[in-house]
Amino acid sequence: MNYQALLFDWSGTLVDDLPPTLHATNEVLREHGVEAMDRETFRHRFRLPYPEFYEDVLPGVAIESLEGTFRSAFNESPKGVTVLPHAREMLEFCCQAGIRCFVLSSMDTGLFMEQAHAFDLHRYFEAIYSGIIDKREHIGSILTDHQLNPATTGFVGDMVHDIETAKHGGIDSIAVATGYDPLERITAMSPTHLYDDLSHFRTDLEKAH
Ligand SMILES: [Mg+2]
Repeated sequence: MNYQALLFDWSGTLVDDLPPTLHATNEVLREHGVEAMDRETFRHRFRLPYPEFYEDVLPGVAIESLEGTFRSAFNESPKGVTVLPHAREMLEFCCQAGIRCFVLSSMDTGLFMEQAHAFDLHRYFEAIYSGIIDKREHIGSILTDHQLNPATTGFVGDMVHDIETAKHGGIDSIAVATGYDPLERITAMSPTHLYDDLSHFRTDLEKAH
């Protein structure tokens, strides 16, 4: 385990935004006369790229027409976004160890920037790729643009799409069970590494450095 660069997903990997995401999704559904989902139903049905999820739950509705409601409901959610335990320590360790850090996230860029600055996490990242609908389409150019060696680069994420993206880019996938996709779905993808949370990954990195 000799990583020189790590790409991080955001939601479910570094921050917990499931409560406001569920709140906002249910507002969008309500607006279209669709019944609200509970947390576990949402986790089972949600997937990336998220337009596929919306085509599933609101077939034929243009995704752009949902974004305004989603964004305002997200910001008005009774439960807000929190930094996941061990996330800050993980980034701090990478910084000390000289491991280059990047963000690759589907989250709306406006929402992402608000959170990253509010939590003072933006400063850990050499570059940020947010608002990326299909991460598989971008992984190749990110590796090229930053001259990242696939052999020493990994993508840390909580969803099947993150593991698929890592495989697509020919890099290691480091899955964490702190996010959206249920554990059995992550396990079925055979990620390179699977951790309960970032503290266990950090422990392994510390041993290697
Ligand atoms: Mg995620």
